[in-house]
Amino acid sequence: MSINLKNLIPVLDAKWIGSDADVFVDHISIDSRSLQNGSKTLFFALTGVNNNAHLFIPELIEKGVQNFVVQYIPENCNGKANFLVVKNTLKALQEFAGYYRDLFDFPIIGITGSNGKTIVKEWLNFLLSPDYNIIRSPKSYNSQVGVPLSVIAINEKHNLGIFEAGISTVNEMSKLENIIKPTIGVLTNIGSAHDEGFENLEQKIKEKLLLFKKSKVVVYQKNALIDKCLIQFSAENHLNDRKLFSWSFTDKSADVFILKKENKTTFTHIEYQYKGETFDLEIPFQDSASIENAISCLLVLLYFKYDFDTVQSRMEMLYPVEMRLEVKNGINNCSIIDDSYSSDFQSLKIALDFLESQKKNASKTVILSDIFQSGFSNEELYTKVAQLITDNKVNRVIGIGATISSFAAKFSNITTFQNTAEFISKIESLSFNNETILIKGARSFQFEEIVSLLEEKTHETVLEINLDSISHNLNFFKAKLNPGVKIMVMVKAFGYGNGGLEIAKLLEHHKVDYLGVAFADEGISLKNGGIKSPIMVLNPESTSFPSIIQYQLEPEIYSIKGLNAFLKIARERNLKDFPIHIKLDTGMHRLGFEENTIDELIATLKGNSTVRIQSILSHMATSDEMKHYEFALSQINLFEKLSSKLISELNINPIRHILNTSGISNFPDAQYNMVRLGIGLYGVSNDPSEQKYLENVSTLKSIISQIRTIPAGDSVGYGRRFMAEKETKIATIPIGYADGISRLWGNEIGYVVIKNQKAFILGSVCMDMLMVDVSEIDCKEGDSVIIFGESPTVIEIAAALKTIPYEILTSISQRVKRVFFR
Ligand SMILES: *Cc1c(COP(=O)(O)O)cnc(C)c1O
Repeated sequence: MSINLKNLIPVLDAKWIGSDADVFVDHISIDSRSLQNGSKTLFFALTGVNNNAHLFIPELIEKGVQNFVVQYIPENCNGKANFLVVKNTLKALQEFAGYYRDLFDFPIIGITGSNGKTIVKEWLNFLLSPDYNIIRSPKSYNSQVGVPLSVIAINEKHNLGIFEAGISTVNEMSKLENIIKPTIGVLTNIGSAHDEGFENLEQKIKEKLLLFKKSKVVVYQKNALIDKCLIQFSAENHLNDRKLFSWSFTDKSADVFILKKENKTTFTHIEYQYKGETFDLEIPFQDSASIENAISCLLVLLYFKYDFDTVQSRMEMLYPVEMRLEVKNGINNCSIIDDSYSSDFQSLKIALDFLESQKKNASKTVILSDIFQSGFSNEELYTKVAQLITDNKVNRVIGIGATISSFAAKFSNITTFQNTAEFISKIESLSFNNETILIKGARSFQFEEIVSLLEEKTHETVLEINLDSISHNLNFFKAKLNPGVKIMVMVKAFGYGNGGLEIAKLLEHHKVDYLGVAFADEGISLKNGGIKSPIMVLNPESTSFPSIIQYQLEPEIYSIKGLNAFLKIARERNLKDFPIHIKLDTGMHRLGFEENTIDELIATLKGNSTVRIQSILSHMATSDEMKHYEFALSQINLFEKLSSKLISELNINPIRHILNTSGISNFPDAQYNMVRLGIGLYGVSNDPSEQKYLENVSTLKSIISQIRTIPAGDSVGYGRRFMAEKETKIATIPIGYADGISRLWGNEIGYVVIKNQKAFILGSVCMDMLMVDVSEIDCKEGDSVIIFGESPTVIEIAAALKTIPYEILTSISQRVKRVFFR
């Protein structure tokens, strides 16, 4: 890409503020963290309800970025870079993408529907790639932001595009249509996903069909309502020569009629009728969603007039699609990003950004296979790849494959191998340790073998943490705050059991104002992990004051004794204005200065310059229980009174804060200058009407170790607490009370979920294992088991065990491996 900014001014309806606009850019970015940002980058400063990329502009200018699309010019930036000022930067990004799309004229497949978009896109890419240079949206980039970014990656070498478009409410699709302008439309299916955003099914279908406004053909599963909408749509838009290309299991009038669908042991046999002839097809899947997705792909191949042998031979090679980049713990303290299913230039760029944002170790390694279907000559391609690797400051590259090996000279730090087997035979000598490793290769290289060798072998239980859901929940609560109110996020107790450092890193990226931990140790390990945000320590012991000072942590001071002890150490070190936080006891009666100690507190602090009162806080005992509403108000009133007294008598201007998660929801008038978010970040609310807007963050998963069937009269587990009344099929799961599963959850009170079905726990939970009833579930050893997550939820488990979700989350033992993903 090479774009002259001069031409963009009218396209974006922008005001140019800067030097001569005759400047070329070749890279578009919205991610301030990307190491790919440089002097040829055009940075779009997007603003969400809570995220404002304008804040990063000074940093980016320092890093050499010169050109920005903004809604306003941030303070002190005028004259330091070029600015295209627009009303709305997201709209500008979309308009830019639409303009850019029009520079190219080749067939583009647009995919939408409720499910299966990403799979159909990946499969079509696989099926068509032997014959085309394809540009496709990476992963599931299908949103208002993802679609423009995908389209902007088109270059002059491509000759087919495959993009997906996802919407959650009305008026979104026409914007996406304007960017993708697909010439071939694929509607995967219409399910109930995102139904909230639409009045009814018909409205939802009509909205989705807007993607196909200019499509010459629409592929879909025949259905009376869709037919009606499509015909109406074609008439309204005068699309007389548009082809409707449908398939069906039941309706013979469809263009492709599926005569027979037979599940075999490892595949499905399909017989279909097309143009009066009958053909066979084998698909290596058995579940109905995969079969429907494969048939959508079949229709596209038929539309492209492939012969039936080619269709058959390619379709039987379809493979499971990995939907996300996963971060895994590796051997020797490495961490691994597994992207072992694709290799193309665009997805490499994305994976490198992900590597930078996720790296736990300073040293970065990329294991990369030959790259296919770029359209560029190998010479051009590997020059670009080597440059990209350099820009991303990758410490070492391992190239696997004949082609990348032959271009080794282009890379400054590469070790090459002819194929995966040769690499594996030498893996010991490469001594991987303390590095973050991106494993990225085309399917044919079978890099999953490398992943399994480099992955740390622990037992099969993991706690999966969805970082995107954390961001979502953070934004949900931020949206409740009055302008200017700061946010402290509590990451105590290892991020409520979810992993302190990883979550703190994400929060730092979201620019939360403060982090809160319970003990100094927790703060020290965050600082050692590179966290720069201010950290308040709720419960500092006097013995930890020296390390609090050394690590620049900020203590909560809750007693005169503690204050004097801290002052003594601080004076010995000649500190000035060291930030401390004054905790007031307004009724919780846990920690804090009581009303009758305030005068002494004031006397001690008056005229003092050793410490600075950074904030005054208190904690509510009943913010989650409306039956104690009056008590809660009395706490807020006392907080107002005592903090005001401190402020006026000491003549200070501290941050004041009293609300925790449920306080944010229930006492919006008491936000003061900051709130302290805890459990809500991790997806739990005390209010069911609010709960539905939060996303589940943690999923505790395991696998089935063994399955057996026992006859009536036999028992299961210690103390024979389960006696089988009939023949019972049981599965053993390697997780027990030492992992944090309460014994009270055993004996058929609790259950796990296997293949979307409940399997009740039989007998007592053991230390490292539990047994469940799978009599009615079609499952096998090695199958995945959900202990909690979407279902059962921690809220449900807590209710059954007469405790609170906090205890369930924080009880999960540290021996359970944490896996973070987006
Ligand atoms: C844990 C804690 C919070 C956060 O509480 P949630 O109910 O999880 O939001 C806030 N303030 C203090 C003092 C805490 O100890």
